[in-house]
Amino acid sequence: MRNLNTFFIRTYGCQMNELDTEIMVGQLEKRGLTRIEDEQKADLLIFNTCSIRDLAERKVMGKLGQLGRSKTKRAIIGVTGCMAMAKKESLFRKLPHIDFILGTNNLTDLNQVLDEVLETGKQTLRTDDQFEENLDYLVAKRDDPVKAYVSIIRGCDKYCTYCVVPYTRGQEVSRSPESIEEECRLLVGKGYKEITLLGQNVNSYGKDRPEWNCLFHDLLYRLDKIPGLERVRFMTSHPTDITLSLMQAVRDLPSLCEFVHFPIQAGSDRILKKMHRIYTKEQYLEKVALLRETVPNVCLGTDIIVGFPTETEEEFQETYDVLKQVRYSVAFLFTYSPRKGTPAFRFKDDVPEAIKEERLQRLLALHAEICAEERQAMLGKEIEVLIEAQNKEETQLKARTRCWKNVILKGDKELIGTLQTVKLHSYSNQTLIGELVSHEKPLVPKSQLILTPAGCCS
Ligand code: SF4
Repeated sequence: MRNLNTFFIRTYGCQMNELDTEIMVGQLEKRGLTRIEDEQKADLLIFNTCSIRDLAERKVMGKLGQLGRSKTKRAIIGVTGCMAMAKKESLFRKLPHIDFILGTNNLTDLNQVLDEVLETGKQTLRTDDQFEENLDYLVAKRDDPVKAYVSIIRGCDKYCTYCVVPYTRGQEVSRSPESIEEECRLLVGKGYKEITLLGQNVNSYGKDRPEWNCLFHDLLYRLDKIPGLERVRFMTSHPTDITLSLMQAVRDLPSLCEFVHFPIQAGSDRILKKMHRIYTKEQYLEKVALLRETVPNVCLGTDIIVGFPTETEEEFQETYDVLKQVRYSVAFLFTYSPRKGTPAFRFKDDVPEAIKEERLQRLLALHAEICAEERQAMLGKEIEVLIEAQNKEETQLKARTRCWKNVILKGDKELIGTLQTVKLHSYSNQTLIGELVSHEKPLVPKSQLILTPAGCCS
């Protein structure tokens, strides 16, 4: 049987995919393989793919096609992630040089599938619809020594008409609170300071397992008790499921950052209905108002899709107005692209690309304006940051506020992984620039930590 010594892995898409990559890296290293960055030299190539947008898929298909055209095929090639689930065996037909396809519910099988490919030389496919209960999360090999992703729920039951996730990741399955807590404790023991809890819809956590008596906010209270866990974040929240109890947790728990990713997707009720977002603009804005009343210093993030089938100029204007009104600190803005296998694929993609692009540019310009005003309002303020890494310029450090703003400051790399207070004096592009105020963790209670008005970041 052929020996594998090295592997190369590339990740496309979301944080869940990044975490899945970390789990696969851990499994392969346990097997004795070494990760290398030069794909030309690796014995095994893995592409952990994303299906959420057409562009992401085309990029992977282009890359895989190129590998097939190269004259000497020496490496085993595997495709994992959402595209593996969406396309299954049809990928073998299009890309006959691929050796294996491993779905999002089969990460545990990676080494077994590799053995099969090596023993038989045959193409192997493993794409179960059932969530893998026995997945060993603790094997994950993380590169970042300060922040870690922890999966708490997989899959999604919302079935937005444009989204492939319910078909590529299956139905919602929560992970037990004991297992999550154990992983978080281990991470803190290794020195991690910040944990981002991941799920396609974290707000649904625990609803599929009523016997646990642990909904999402209960889990947050539980994790907040872990000594040394400085910051907890979560991604992402469906607006329908956000509860007052969760908002109160954001207000009250010292570890929980005051940032909520709260995607509206569109501002018109007709388009929201067509997207099957199951809320109206008014209901959404009511939740935003309640959130801001409960947590006055909260910062919000959103995702927005422009140019959804049949979207008119007036309906786009409603989306524009919501962005202007809510003043999101973070916004992921996209043009619509039809995804095969989704209900919206049957809709006529009738908004011309040039109009989609023009609408996107208007939103981007508005959001850039909002962010510049937000940064301007933060100048002169002292804020808590977590020092995350060295910057490209080695005398500088990269840090992040509780509200997910990038900050650059001068300082020694010994400070990486510590919480510091920084006074902001300027900004460039997307980044705030500041200087260290003290080397002590701020002792200000959470309620007084950020005194800027709603919509402005800490
Ligand atoms: S909530 Fe909608 S957009 Fe988000 S993962 Fe589920 S189906 Fe996709």
